[in-house]
Amino acid sequence: MVLSAQLHPQAAPRTISILGATGSIGTSTIDLILRNPDQFNVVALSGNSNVDLLAKQAKELNADFACVADPKNYLALKDALSGTNIEVGAGESSVLEAATRNADWVMASIVGAAGLAPTLEAVKRGATVGLANKESLVCAGDLMMQAVKNAGAVLLPVDSEHNAIFQVLDFDRPERIEKITLTASGGPFRMFSTEDMAIVTPEQAVAHPNWSMGAKISIDSASMMNKGLELIEAYHLFPVREDQIDILVHPQSVIHSMVSYVDGSVLAQLGSPDMRTPIAYALAWPDRMEAPSPKLDLAKIAQLNFESPDLDRFPALSLARNALKQGKSAPAVLNAANEIAVQAFLERRIGFLDIPRVVEEMLEKYEHHVLRHIDDVLQVDKITRINARQAIEKIH
Ligand code: NAD
Ligand code: MG
Repeated sequence: MVLSAQLHPQAAPRTISILGATGSIGTSTIDLILRNPDQFNVVALSGNSNVDLLAKQAKELNADFACVADPKNYLALKDALSGTNIEVGAGESSVLEAATRNADWVMASIVGAAGLAPTLEAVKRGATVGLANKESLVCAGDLMMQAVKNAGAVLLPVDSEHNAIFQVLDFDRPERIEKITLTASGGPFRMFSTEDMAIVTPEQAVAHPNWSMGAKISIDSASMMNKGLELIEAYHLFPVREDQIDILVHPQSVIHSMVSYVDGSVLAQLGSPDMRTPIAYALAWPDRMEAPSPKLDLAKIAQLNFESPDLDRFPALSLARNALKQGKSAPAVLNAANEIAVQAFLERRIGFLDIPRVVEEMLEKYEHHVLRHIDDVLQVDKITRINARQAIEKIH
């Protein structure tokens, strides 16, 4: 990890762009910016389909540029922003432009592999990037981390577990790290039998007990694929081997993750389950800023519990760990197959347990190969999506 930028409280406002401004992470980021308007100048915002919200955000933040990934929404956005000086764009190329425009700091909060190319653009021009879009590291971790190094960019993990580790990891002494432990809430089906999980609905699956998040990550949390993706994310972000990354179920989501050192010390970061805390940490880094997250009241919580993850009931965990061990194109296949299967589950075309089945089928279908260029990743992603859709057709 390259740590170079310095922020002083009295420094000039930070210029910032938000990719995926209309989502859960995007709106939490904007909430923090609006509480500290003097500290930020907003350059670009991107969205996809929620034109009204994007236009409202662009006006409120006085952004230079607003764009939608879906070109069908161009006229609606142009209309909503008529009479302002805000430039308008549409299509994938406009999201790349939003990433390329000259902001010091970029929040990468698009969901899924759609975030890969824009996040990489921001990295390549040496920006400081707050990384929420874990899927980009899952499918192109080696290429992304190489690009960070080449460009002297700074990658600040926003995912709560990785943000926690980032806060307590001794980057100067990686050889003194014994392991890192990613905590997991266990999701809404932590206590469900496999038979019960076979008949759950999308509504049950998105109702996360602790966190309020976008639909895709909520389903991933329910299947525990989210923790599998986070395992791969952690492998790329931190100087540890795959066998040094543990997963521990902790239903209260108070300890966000921990680092164990060779002397037996374990350092953890704690907080309420509110993404505005890790987002604030990344936004203000290396300083800190106030966040409106509820303060942690441990006396009230009284008890913290822990248990090992159940790999039989949550096969996504082993699928992800095996994909990480196999390396090459396997994690990109895992991610693309999962995105398509999650979408099909949300549309009620497959059952909840079909999600890991489709992912496993796709992982077994390929001879995995080395990905040398971002185009190789995009190609694997595209082919896997086609094959996963066909596999899903056959289920019903
Ligand atoms: P979300 O669904 O609420 O928002 C997604 C954003 O991406 C929206 O702004 C949407 O317009 C945009 N988008 C969707 N499809 C797009 C496309 N094809 N091209 C361009 N933009 C597109 O998702 P979220 O919950 O905010 O999650 C965003 C990312 O952050 C994900 O990678 C997720 O894993 C990660 N993350 C989220 C949370 C959380 O609490 N929500 C926590 C940790 C990590
Ligand atoms: Mg997380």
